[in-house]
Amino acid sequence: MSSANTPPSSKRASNAASKTSSTGKTAAKRTTRNSSTKTSSTKATTKSSTSTKSSAAAKTKAKTSKAQPVATGVDHESLASGVARQIRYGLCSTEKDQSQLFDALALALKEQMLDEWRETRLKDNDFKQKQVAYLSLEFLMGRALGNALLNLDLTEQGRQVLAQYASELEAVEEYEHDAGLGNGGLGRLAACFLDSCASLDLSVTGYGIRYQYGMFAQKIVDGYQIERPDYWLRDGNPWEVRRAHRTVSVPFFGHTHTYEDNTGRRHHVWQAGQTVLAVPHDMPIPGYRNGRINTLRLWKAEADDDFNLAEFNDGDYTESVAAKNLAEQITMVLYPNDASENGKELRLRQQYFLSSASLQDLINRHLDKFGNDFSQFSANNVIQLNDTHPSIAVPELMRLLMDKHGLGWDEAWQITSSSVAYTNHTLLPEALERWSVPMVAHMLPRIMEIIFEINARYLEQVAHQWPGDCQKLAQMSIIEEGPVQHIRMAYLAIVASFSVNGVAALHTKLLKAGLFNDFYQLWPEKFNNRTNGVTPRRWLAYCNTQLSTLISKRLGDDWVTDLSKLAALNAFTADHQFVKQWAEVKQANKQVLANFVEQECGVSFDAKMMFDVQVKRIHEYKRQLLNIMHVIHLYQRILSGDTQGMVPRCVLIGGKAAPGYAMAKQIIKLINNVAHMVNSDPVVTPYLRLAFLPNYNVSAMEKICPGTDLSEQISTAGKEASGTGNMKFMMNGALTIGTLDGANVEMIEEVGEENFFLFGLKADEVEALKPHYNPSEIIARSQALQGVLNMLEGGHFNLVEPNIFDDIINAIKDPNDQWMLAADFDDYCRAQQQVAKTYQNQSQWQQMSIRNAAASGRFSSDNTIEGYRDHIWMK
Ligand SMILES: *Cc1c(COP(=O)(O)O)cnc(C)c1O
Repeated sequence: MSSANTPPSSKRASNAASKTSSTGKTAAKRTTRNSSTKTSSTKATTKSSTSTKSSAAAKTKAKTSKAQPVATGVDHESLASGVARQIRYGLCSTEKDQSQLFDALALALKEQMLDEWRETRLKDNDFKQKQVAYLSLEFLMGRALGNALLNLDLTEQGRQVLAQYASELEAVEEYEHDAGLGNGGLGRLAACFLDSCASLDLSVTGYGIRYQYGMFAQKIVDGYQIERPDYWLRDGNPWEVRRAHRTVSVPFFGHTHTYEDNTGRRHHVWQAGQTVLAVPHDMPIPGYRNGRINTLRLWKAEADDDFNLAEFNDGDYTESVAAKNLAEQITMVLYPNDASENGKELRLRQQYFLSSASLQDLINRHLDKFGNDFSQFSANNVIQLNDTHPSIAVPELMRLLMDKHGLGWDEAWQITSSSVAYTNHTLLPEALERWSVPMVAHMLPRIMEIIFEINARYLEQVAHQWPGDCQKLAQMSIIEEGPVQHIRMAYLAIVASFSVNGVAALHTKLLKAGLFNDFYQLWPEKFNNRTNGVTPRRWLAYCNTQLSTLISKRLGDDWVTDLSKLAALNAFTADHQFVKQWAEVKQANKQVLANFVEQECGVSFDAKMMFDVQVKRIHEYKRQLLNIMHVIHLYQRILSGDTQGMVPRCVLIGGKAAPGYAMAKQIIKLINNVAHMVNSDPVVTPYLRLAFLPNYNVSAMEKICPGTDLSEQISTAGKEASGTGNMKFMMNGALTIGTLDGANVEMIEEVGEENFFLFGLKADEVEALKPHYNPSEIIARSQALQGVLNMLEGGHFNLVEPNIFDDIINAIKDPNDQWMLAADFDDYCRAQQQVAKTYQNQSQWQQMSIRNAAASGRFSSDNTIEGYRDHIWMK
């Protein structure tokens, strides 16, 4: 590895002069299917047809009919002239390097979207369709160019325009920075949902934060993770539109008081100590060829004009101006913790800032149409909370309705509790948010009062349900008692929501039986499951054009908007020609991935070997450690000459560790040290190679999932809420080795256990084993595990760095090891041997690959969003 690890960000940061595409895709390899659907309709006819569509008709259409290629077509000339004009007047440039071409094409495309974007907004402002606000602290969008071209049916035109400048689309795409405004699965889910909502013609607005620094860029130095700030806005963001006229003001600190007016009504006043402006920056979310352009509204914090006016009046001009930084700090950086809470005051400020700004925006839209009549507010609006991160929206909506718009408590509660819905994303206790009461009381004094009032009224209901049960009251209270009181944010969200959903069948079952059982008993009707999904536009049609073309040749292209159609692929598993083409596409994609690994890791992968991949956030529950233990086991077998039945494999592991998560960082170091030993031994490399991919992100995954043979989904059963990486791999024809966890359960239901490499303890077995888990007994019985531990304890991978892996060794042997590594190791090795045996029978493997892609239809986020639409939002 070492110096070969190139900068993780886009090409702009590294070498703007470079002309070659790193993707290995060429124009010739890409499909040209879009060119045949080129529209002859003019902009004017497009407009009238979209604006007269009734939303009901549009809904049916999006659901049942194939894509409408005429809806958004623009001719090649207008895109070409748009690009030329952007270069000349927009960028005021004489140069036409690829970085400039990216900006020009993106700006021209945005311009193409502006009319339909405005029309979508005007139509939605009529409230004929229920409006959904999707509140999320994270949107892991990745790059927008290729996706926008696909959805607008302009890929071929874009390619032709760039050809006029002697440039290739794939090369130009590399100049776009990933919008890394999320950590991992939760943020990427929000991004997939936005694509599906727009494609299903639903009026859904994403509300998030415009972090100036997104997810950190990961570098690997001497095998260790180094974090670099990700200043993704350095070169500007051609997609965003700043809508200053929709700015709102968010209060912080200060104090509250009450007074009675002359009618005897009590009023609450929050005299804020500070107000911060929230300025919307909108990103267009084009539906798939249907004329809808939804909005992702990202809030930027800016100082109010009279921010720290007092100091200004005191004559301290510079102090007052410097104070502006404090306001702008709120949206400076994304907290890089995945599946663990942070508890920092600034994080709470972000949560309240997003919640308050978004709700004020909703209410402003409502006021524009209905004035101060809130009787239809909850019939017209749903607020979906992506985990508890924005759950402070509950008391904030109460505050806005009561203190600003004069509603009484009961009326405000009626509206709030029928507008808010909550999605839970994890059962891990370390991820459950708890905010200290003194912190909230200081920062958001009025909000704290409202939470206490919500709790008091709700506990009356609990007392009614369980008379005389004080323990129940303490256990279910929104306020956790202790030396310092804390607010249980998940409980606040459940109490106020009309819907509480988990993200996979097993996860929801465990929520109802465990973590939220008391609430399930109180309100069984609130609980429902919506299994996650991923958008087939980005994760198949865009990222795997070769496979898409092959599929469309046989099935037509309806599958892009109805992924269940892929089931028809099962008919071709005995068609030798098709199976051969299927294998050839995988082979070509493996070569692309091999080139990427060579460039990013300096490790040579051979596309003739099996590609075994685990990419996701580094976390103990995801068990990258189990994977590396198996790699060490294979390494030992090779060194001892035991290569019987072994399939040559290239193992790729990638993912970021939270900067403060020491164990996860140690695991990264171990992977890199093992990689060094494996890759530098010519006895080993014919059978085994290992690379750690730095800076795993969305655009990396777009190259990884098409080229993967084997997908590793090996979390301890009961710990992975759903997983969505598993779905991207399946859609692209990878086979999965995995535990009975998260959405794996449903993947097996769809594809059959015979097409999945299942191993390990089940969720209930993990729980049952916990009290008497005894790893040393397991180790004594397993030669393979002894071999791995001997090698680790002997310092084989850290000869010059003594003891650096002690925590890892101890974790494997610890009777309190929550992740049960030793318990699952032997069965994991058995399943891996089954993988090898199957891979040796290539025709069987390819058939299983086809069956996996064919069975992935259920995991389209279109399917998930239809579930949200029918069972939560439009209910
Ligand atoms: C899909 C995706 C994830 C989620 O992966 P899991 O395996 O479900 O944890 C995380 N990060 C990126 C960049 C992704 O594309």
